Amino acid sequence: SLKAGIVGLPNVGKSTLFNAVVENGKAQAANFPFCTIEPNVGAVAVPDPRLNVLSDLSKSQKAVPTSIEFVDIAGLVKGASQGEVVGWLCDFRVCSLLQGLGNKFLSHIREVDSIVQVVRCFEDNDIVHVNGKVDPKADIDVINLELVFSDMDQIEKRLDKLKKGKARDSQSKAKEEAEKSGLEKIQSALLDGKPARSVSLTDYEKEAIRHLCLLTMKPIIYVANVAENDLAVPEDNPHVKEVMGLAATLQSGLVTVSAQVESELSELALEERTEYLTSLGVSESGLGNLVRATYDLLGLRTYFTSGEKETKAWTIRAGMTAPQAAGVIHSDFERGFIRAETVAYNDFVTAGSLATAREKGLLRSEGKEYIVQEGDVMLFRFNV
Ligand code: GDP
Repeated sequence: SLKAGIVGLPNVGKSTLFNAVVENGKAQAANFPFCTIEPNVGAVAVPDPRLNVLSDLSKSQKAVPTSIEFVDIAGLVKGASQGEVVGWLCDFRVCSLLQGLGNKFLSHIREVDSIVQVVRCFEDNDIVHVNGKVDPKADIDVINLELVFSDMDQIEKRLDKLKKGKARDSQSKAKEEAEKSGLEKIQSALLDGKPARSVSLTDYEKEAIRHLCLLTMKPIIYVANVAENDLAVPEDNPHVKEVMGLAATLQSGLVTVSAQVESELSELALEERTEYLTSLGVSESGLGNLVRATYDLLGLRTYFTSGEKETKAWTIRAGMTAPQAAGVIHSDFERGFIRAETVAYNDFVTAGSLATAREKGLLRSEGKEYIVQEGDVMLFRFNV
């Protein structure tokens, strides 16, 4: 499964946000019969307006959203997650203060597919800021520097090794050369304070350096944690505006949430949530936005199954074939896969039903090689 690591300085709201995710997961547990909710696991539904449209057209008895999971570091050890996202918390200032432990934290981050950095944008004199004042740019710089230093260190060690040139045949020699040239390009970018992901590399170089799992190669989403009265018009808060600018120059995503509001929301019944959000001048929970942004960042895609019993959204990775996508529902579907009947979401909506889509020739029959597309509505044929 794919993993997202939640990082940030101490006291920025990571735990509050994470706990909101976990509470939310517990509240929704009944809707997710496919995932066991354990103490350190939070499942969040991925908001998707297409789900209800399909469900209405198919006159389904229920609509089941897809979900992604966030897992706390303690729960991570088991790692038996069925969801697509696993996140954990890392306090960066703690990382750099306690060096030995810091490296251990960083090695956890090395394994994630994307990084979610919570940045404090709320003022509250009762809550100590490690730098003495709310300063999101400084916070982002601290963490970027930490990541840059760690990558520089790793690259230096690796280049030293490569210089000894142990390759015996020409193929491994070429591979070493590609790794060396890739790393040198990245090294000079890092010296300029630029992340590895900003460097353009050949496919061969990318492949050759992949094993290093460089931290600045990973995509980042910034989560601006704001006070509740900033939720309606976040850009009125100068801190948020600054983070927006930074996120744009760093080619990173940005989501505004109020961790505190999310934590309060997670304790309310569903009907009361809408009322509370409306009173704050917003239509949707920030958790939903965060989930969607993480989903996109990780390269996840949604396909649907839709019938009278239920309409359901399923999560796959971009590039998955029809049998692999079927395997997300059940491994038997993948093993016994014969063909898939497929119609694009828009075609389904135009046709109004699966039957009409079939009559109009919009329903295609696809085989084992078919790459499932975003929004496909699928019907699998398989041998048991
Ligand atoms: P962490 O160290 O990053 O995990 O931060 P915590 O989630 O433990 O939050 C630190 C403190 O800030 C706690 O007392 C939270 O209640 C408080 N806090 C978190 N988010 C908000 C927020 O949006 N507004 C305000 N006023 N306080 C918050």
